[in-house]
Amino acid sequence: MAAKEATCVTPIPQEPIPAQDLIHLLRLGITSSWNTQWSNLPQIHGLRAIQPIPRKWTSSPPLKRKEEISLRLLRIGHISLTHTHLLRGDLLPTCISCNVPLSIHHLLLHCLTLTAARRRTKLPTSLQDILSSTPEAISSLLNFLTAAKITP
Ligand SMILES: [Zn+2]
Repeated sequence: MAAKEATCVTPIPQEPIPAQDLIHLLRLGITSSWNTQWSNLPQIHGLRAIQPIPRKWTSSPPLKRKEEISLRLLRIGHISLTHTHLLRGDLLPTCISCNVPLSIHHLLLHCLTLTAARRRTKLPTSLQDILSSTPEAISSLLNFLTAAKITP
C-alpha cells in the first residue's frame, strides 16, 4: 500500500530558476563566506581591529587625493615610517621615546611623544573610531597627522 502511494506522488515541476534568484543566492553565499573568513582572521590582524564587520569603506567628506591615500594607508597599517624597513632590509624600527616597535597602533594610540597632539586634535581613543569614515574623525586624524608631522 505504501509503495503504491509512493509511486502516485506527483513529480515536482522542473521549472527554470530565474537568473536574478540565482544571482541573489550567489551573493548571499559569497557574503557569508567572506564574513566567515573575516571573523576567523587572527586577532592580531590590523584590519579586523579597525573594521570588525566587512563592509564598503567610504570617506564621508570629499577628500583630496593625498588625504584619501593617507587614510587608506593608515587603515591597512602600512605607512612609510613603519614599513620602509622591509624594502631596505633593515630591522623593524622602534619608537625612540617609548622603545617599542613602531606601528600605526602605537602612533595613533599610545606614543607618549604624541599625547599632546592627540589631545589638541581631539583624536578618538580607539583605532576603530580614529579610522572611521565620519567627517569629524577624518578631520581630527588629518589634523593629528599634521601636528605630529607624520607623512603616510
Ligand atoms: Zn612612542
